[in-house]
Amino acid sequence: MSQTAAAPAAAAAGRDRADGRPFIRISGVTKTFSGFVAVNDLTLEVREGEIFCLLGGSGSGKSTLLRMLAGFETPDRGRIEIDGQDMTGVPPWARPVNMMFQSYALFPHMSVARNVEYGLRQDGVPRAERAERVARMLELVKLTPFADRKPAQLSGGQRQRVALARALVKRPKALLLDEPLSALDKKLREETQFELLDIQEKLGTTFIVVTHDQEEAMTLGDRIGVMDAGELIQVDAPRDLYEYPRNRFIAEFVGSVNIFEGRVVEDEADHVLLGDTDLGAEIFIHHGLSCQMGQTLWVAVRPEKMRLTAARPDDARNAAQGVIEDIAYLGGLTHYRVRLDGGKTVRVTRANVERRHADGLTWNDRAWISWPPEAGVALTS
Ligand code: ADP
Ligand code: MG
Repeated sequence: MSQTAAAPAAAAAGRDRADGRPFIRISGVTKTFSGFVAVNDLTLEVREGEIFCLLGGSGSGKSTLLRMLAGFETPDRGRIEIDGQDMTGVPPWARPVNMMFQSYALFPHMSVARNVEYGLRQDGVPRAERAERVARMLELVKLTPFADRKPAQLSGGQRQRVALARALVKRPKALLLDEPLSALDKKLREETQFELLDIQEKLGTTFIVVTHDQEEAMTLGDRIGVMDAGELIQVDAPRDLYEYPRNRFIAEFVGSVNIFEGRVVEDEADHVLLGDTDLGAEIFIHHGLSCQMGQTLWVAVRPEKMRLTAARPDDARNAAQGVIEDIAYLGGLTHYRVRLDGGKTVRVTRANVERRHADGLTWNDRAWISWPPEAGVALTS
């Protein structure tokens, strides 16, 4: 299900890496800090040439996992394999990966070109080759005109690109980036995300990007792994994560969502009916589920998949009446908050395709919210 749903989007963007061979294999890796479990029995394969985003809240173990890949931390248990080679006991400098740190840590007294060249000098690369590789890298990150400047004479975005060039000039097979764009303001961050995609596309280097920003993960990632408390909760393409969240945590973490709760009152092969719901009406699930009568289930519905109407919809299931409490007009979209008669608040987003919605619904109006059954995702946890 996930693969077929993801294919059109990935193919359209020209970024279908589904067939990349596994390049990094993490098997049953655990890391504790004086008894505190930072990464818990984690298993993951990252494919060659993909951008894999590790997404999670602060303290969920993202940096610790990345540092274990780079060799700065040693797993207590489990195994890390990179490019077919067991990394146990392999020091950071001998690994086919490079890490770009959260703080860029550029040398302030060196020019941009010297900063980028530094690692190559360390490795004893001959002068002529160094010059050529630095020049090519500066061109790639669009910093050629700034080659002689010092880091202090650059903007935040430019400094970020110097750090990127410095990490990439050594031609790592995989680049590990820990919150690479967190120092940039929102607009620059968005621009830089596209530059990063462009650069990665040109080089084909495997990128693992740590971020706590779900929009960033959706923009950058071929696949996203969502972490919580040291565990990977779901690994999927951005679209699948959004459309088919595995549980309530993922549904709420990725994007905005309405979650309704109810108890199974009808359990058939082709549908399930929930009663006693916080919607205040029956909820119809249009497919069978492995569940028991009386069991609590949840249904997640994205705001843009909810309908808002002045009149009662034809189907009384998945529909309830309330009052429009709040409207945020954002130009292309309008967000509504509707307080249902039962007390629950529901978010509805409408695309402003016309200048005005014909129904003229506004603040304090009574209205109906509803959703077609296929718009909901049934969740058992
Ligand atoms: P994230 O990058 O997702 O914010 P981290 O991987 O940095 O999370 O940290 C995960 C957990 O491990 C946090 O609770 C953090 O305090 C703890 N931790 C990380 N590194 C150390 C360390 N060197 N010593 C003790 N605790 C650590
Ligand atoms: Mg971190």
